[in-house]
Amino acid sequence: MEGKDMDTAKLALHGGAPVRDGEKKWPGWPVHDESERNALLAVLESGRWFFDERVAEFEKAYAAFQGAEHCIACNSGTAAGEIILQALGIGVGDEVIVPPYTFIATASAVLRVGATPVFADLDAAWCLDADQVEAVITPRTRAIMPVHFGGRICDMDKLNAVSERHGIAIIEDACHSWGGAWKGCGTGTLGRCGFFSFQVSKNITAGEGGAIVTNDAALAARCRSLVNCGRGEAGSPWYHHVNVGTNARLTEFQAAILLCQLKRLEAQTLLRERNAAVLDHGLGAIEGLTPQRGSNRITRRAYHLYCMRIDEASFGCSRDHFVQAAQAEGLPITAGYPMPLYRQPVFGHVQNHDYSKYRCPVTEDLCYKSGMWFLHQLLLASEADMQDIIAIARKIKDNAAELRS
Ligand SMILES: *Cc1c(COP(=O)(O)O)cnc(C)c1O
Repeated sequence: MEGKDMDTAKLALHGGAPVRDGEKKWPGWPVHDESERNALLAVLESGRWFFDERVAEFEKAYAAFQGAEHCIACNSGTAAGEIILQALGIGVGDEVIVPPYTFIATASAVLRVGATPVFADLDAAWCLDADQVEAVITPRTRAIMPVHFGGRICDMDKLNAVSERHGIAIIEDACHSWGGAWKGCGTGTLGRCGFFSFQVSKNITAGEGGAIVTNDAALAARCRSLVNCGRGEAGSPWYHHVNVGTNARLTEFQAAILLCQLKRLEAQTLLRERNAAVLDHGLGAIEGLTPQRGSNRITRRAYHLYCMRIDEASFGCSRDHFVQAAQAEGLPITAGYPMPLYRQPVFGHVQNHDYSKYRCPVTEDLCYKSGMWFLHQLLLASEADMQDIIAIARKIKDNAAELRS
């Protein structure tokens, strides 16, 4: 008995028993049931595989879900971002302000339309900071692209004030924020427009997929045309092309799956919020750990990631040692993005802007020292599983001295 106690107190990394052994599994992702199976077979057997009534039905359902007037489905979040920029007429000579702590697509969309991504640092909530944005505005700035990182909605009151003061559009990268709401209004409707991803890691998915939402009818019509080879309005002849579009259409198979996934999303979102609150309470009580800060203006929060920071000095070990030890205890946590986007090699090839000049201290601290996250599906586990996560963090804290090197 005594020996067993000692084993569980000792870090798994150093030969002790892990808090979670191989028997305890985290929820898998993606999830499906009979409804996806039946919906897929129905499309298959209908012979109508191409861009039709199910895509339209999904667009209607998703627009309603986000509280937007228009939704245009497309084949990825990446394509959605590029199409919005093109539809807004943003291109060569224009600048778009983006955060340096995000997936590459936020910034690469800007490069793909020939414009220049300009980076502004984050606030303490891992979101684009309005003051930092204002500091990098130039006469060439055409748009601001905040990312609701991990599902945490950016301070849209401050960002909209900057947007209005300078007459610059806000395009929300809402690729982590399905169903998110700021003061009761859905993400994607908080600025000029927004876009979502349904790629396989995302909280609703058809393997791939994306969507644009907006309350601007003219912008919606342009996006709809661009997604579908630049075709004219519904009802115009098939071989009639009015814009330089692309083929970014969703298939009926994907729309059928997404309609099923959307039906599950509400309950999943509530469960993730509930479990995240348990973690915020338990992990936040451990000296040296700081869960991503919320806001009472966020009235519904999607969790794509559960994010937290570690302070090496007060916790007692480094971020990388924590991650290694936590993984050995059975928590699949990672250190997140390894570098700010402006350090990615691709920016070294951009001719008209010197990316080596950037120093964004909040982002650099997250990348190099303090940031950690794990994936949303863990938040679909039980409350006892959340207690395991807290126990893992406490165990590492208790043994932190051993990890110091
Ligand atoms: C996933 C993601 C995208 C791109 O979406 P894809 O559907 O994978 O192309 C864009 N921005 C962010 C923040 C994302 O997480």
